[in-house]
Amino acid sequence: MLLKKKILIGLTREELESFAREHGQQAFRGRQLYSWIYQRRVSSFDEMTDLPAAWRVELDRVSEVGRLEVARPPHETRDGSQKFLFDLSDGLRVESVYLPESPGETACISSQVGCALGCHFCATAKMGLFRNLTGSEIVLQVLEVERRCQTRLTNVVFMGMGEPLHNYENVVAALRLLTDENGIGLSARRITVSTVGLVPAIERWMDDNPPAKLAISLHATTDERRAELMPINKAYPLEVLFKTLRRFAHVTRDPVTFEYIMIADFNDREEDVENLARWLKNIPAKMNLIRLHPTGSGLKPSSDEAIDRFMGWLTEAGIRCTLRESRGLEDEAACGMLFTQEPFKPSKARAWEKA
Ligand code: SAH
Repeated sequence: MLLKKKILIGLTREELESFAREHGQQAFRGRQLYSWIYQRRVSSFDEMTDLPAAWRVELDRVSEVGRLEVARPPHETRDGSQKFLFDLSDGLRVESVYLPESPGETACISSQVGCALGCHFCATAKMGLFRNLTGSEIVLQVLEVERRCQTRLTNVVFMGMGEPLHNYENVVAALRLLTDENGIGLSARRITVSTVGLVPAIERWMDDNPPAKLAISLHATTDERRAELMPINKAYPLEVLFKTLRRFAHVTRDPVTFEYIMIADFNDREEDVENLARWLKNIPAKMNLIRLHPTGSGLKPSSDEAIDRFMGWLTEAGIRCTLRESRGLEDEAACGMLFTQEPFKPSKARAWEKA
């Protein structure tokens, strides 16, 4: 039987130390591996020049650093963004996006293949959920985008496919690897995890304090309208969500960041600002407005004038806001447009279809 090689990306320093010991090496060999893989971003054992030659041969036999192959090369886009469709080892596929100078070197990555939450405006929702990504697959997206775009990333946003807090443990494990200063070394303040607002997971986040910022997808100011867009609002209505967020702001001592898609005559009215001001009482907040990107939902994006007007009302109400530039529209790589039309690698499709 063929030996299944162990994938090293995704392992912590301690796990690599144990791995080295299991193979008759001293623990510090595991730390050397850690530094080669994460700090120096090397993907072949040949390049790990301070490891003994015999150990490198053994490593090659039993393990691999880990790679994601691309199913098709990204299209050229005018704004420089690139959308990658990556093949996972079980034949499923996932998308990640590189967004240069936005303002930093940014990767928008996925946390699940598909998504279970069914938000009406979001393309990924149409796929349904296939599975959670592993910590390794989450970290690999970052390292692959870096390698393929020949850059050092400064920012990572979990705004690709999936609901990150629905895959809490793997996302938090990945965050710890992404921010270890002896490893990949990203700054926790430049990583944003976006959530529909899974209240129990936000509570857990407050206890664990993972190294990243959280952003809440709000998108409407009444329960009725929010539930129309986001079924999750039935489980955690606004009253419950904001009660938790009030505590969240207090615990983190940071303003709460909200994402808010601008939908014509639906959530861009003056009364929405009044509602917001009520919800945000005693919650320092920052509103990130997003243009509605087309996904065939039948909803209409707010006009530029309506967005300007809305921003004016927010400012008058003392609510900080910015309009997020829409990047990646050309290659359907913008927020909410990630949808794998080919969710499987053809050679492995049958196994998945049966499952
Ligand atoms: N599940 C997470 C993260 C994924 S999406 C979440 O919902 O927050 C990242 C952001 O893109 C979210 O705020 C999401 O609501 C938004 N988005 C989804 N579909 C969109 C669309 N069609 N146009 C603009 N933004 C969209």
